[in-house]
Amino acid sequence: VNHTGTNEQQNSELLKKNILLTSMETVLNWARSNSLWPLSSGLACCSMEMMASAAARFDISRFGYEVFRPSPRQADLLIVAGTLTWKMAGPLKRLYEQMPEPKYVIAMGSCANAGGPFADSYSVVPGVDRILPVDVYIPGCPPRPEALIQGMLELKRRIQNPEVARMDKHE
Ligand code: SF4
Repeated sequence: VNHTGTNEQQNSELLKKNILLTSMETVLNWARSNSLWPLSSGLACCSMEMMASAAARFDISRFGYEVFRPSPRQADLLIVAGTLTWKMAGPLKRLYEQMPEPKYVIAMGSCANAGGPFADSYSVVPGVDRILPVDVYIPGCPPRPEALIQGMLELKRRIQNPEVARMDKHE
């Protein structure tokens, strides 16, 4: 190997060690999944556990998810925490529509998942997926903050692997 050849070999070794090839979508999804901004909204008892998850004991900021926003225009995650009544369905849908894309929905607790103890009531929506696309369902009445954190980490996995999320939806 001549002098130039050695340099080329060294250069290609250096390139392999220092250059990461990826797509812009992967980088953006990585950034999104590590800094979700939830909308500050709660519907019933489950929202108390959602609030606790942001306090010091459970400290959801460890994962980058503590920036709860009061405006839907600044939020990319809607955590449906509590009982959704048909009367609130319209305003909740409007809030969702005001959030910019890409946006995600977590159904937190039995009421949001399927109406919970009020599933047979005329006034309760038997599952928020009747009106919004849900990415992650968290069981419990109410789910503890650890469960919400686990659900958000599942959402993170799905954002980073959109093809997995698409396959799961078509199961
Ligand atoms: Fe309340 Fe249980 Fe419904 Fe949560 S799932 S809003 S704790 S009744």
